[in-house]
Amino acid sequence: MNNQPRQLLETIEPQLVVEGAGVLLRRSFGPRRDNLFDPFLLFDHFAFNDPIERPPVGFPTHPHRGIETVTYMLEGNVRHRDSLGNMGVIGPGDVQWMTSGRGIMHEEMPQRGPSGIINGFQLWVNLPAARKMSQPRYQEINAESIPTLEKPGVLVRVVAGEFEGVRGPVTEIEAQPLYMDITLEPGAAFYLPVEAGHFAIAYLFEGAVYCGLDDDGRGERVDAVKMLVFDDGDSLGIQAANDERARFMLMAGAPFKEPIAPYGPFVMNTQEEIQQAFIDLRNGTFVSQK
Ligand code: FE
Repeated sequence: MNNQPRQLLETIEPQLVVEGAGVLLRRSFGPRRDNLFDPFLLFDHFAFNDPIERPPVGFPTHPHRGIETVTYMLEGNVRHRDSLGNMGVIGPGDVQWMTSGRGIMHEEMPQRGPSGIINGFQLWVNLPAARKMSQPRYQEINAESIPTLEKPGVLVRVVAGEFEGVRGPVTEIEAQPLYMDITLEPGAAFYLPVEAGHFAIAYLFEGAVYCGLDDDGRGERVDAVKMLVFDDGDSLGIQAANDERARFMLMAGAPFKEPIAPYGPFVMNTQEEIQQAFIDLRNGTFVSQK
């Protein structure tokens, strides 16, 4: 495939779901047996915009196996603590890329920022069969360490992957992901090569865009808040509508093309491996022993 711009395949309306101890989330997709978003498994947007709501509840201690969870905050923060003794706070602009490997137990507690707002994302990325039982690994990147590329009308924060020579700090991820936070001023356009065969999506949370731009620069208009799913190709073009600024998270990655068996916080390849996760939890052998 050569110089094939990706077209918009579908838009997904995020659905409200309740997770953890009662956290209201906007879920674009979750782990599914058909693995349509391979190598991605889940994308959640947690936003509490009403300061008079009850105090935010979080995600009390829970296990993960076989996946990577990626937390990216816009406002407010998430306090976390895990079975390996790691603890910390993920604040605005920070990212935590957690590779659960064979097992991690952690809690994640969102807290409001000074404005009373909590706004952030959690993406789940799959691990290939050969890495599902690997040692857990964390990449915690604070906001200042995420490189920002600025061009007229375009602001890009590169978490993972590369944009115009700027490399994101998150590395050695099996899915070879691109993960970027992109802001476009009204009418500004963004173009990026995306390797053919990789899966690409964008979560538009502010404004409106045209995407799947043709040779005349025209595409289909989409208004926030939506998950945009692109077809295959080797580049991606998105332009903000003329009447407002747009902001979106762009994700792309190499599909593993393996069968998956999702069950709650575990995503393995077979049902037997899911059963093993429960056996390990019961026997106290779930969390990696170093
Ligand atoms: Fe978790």
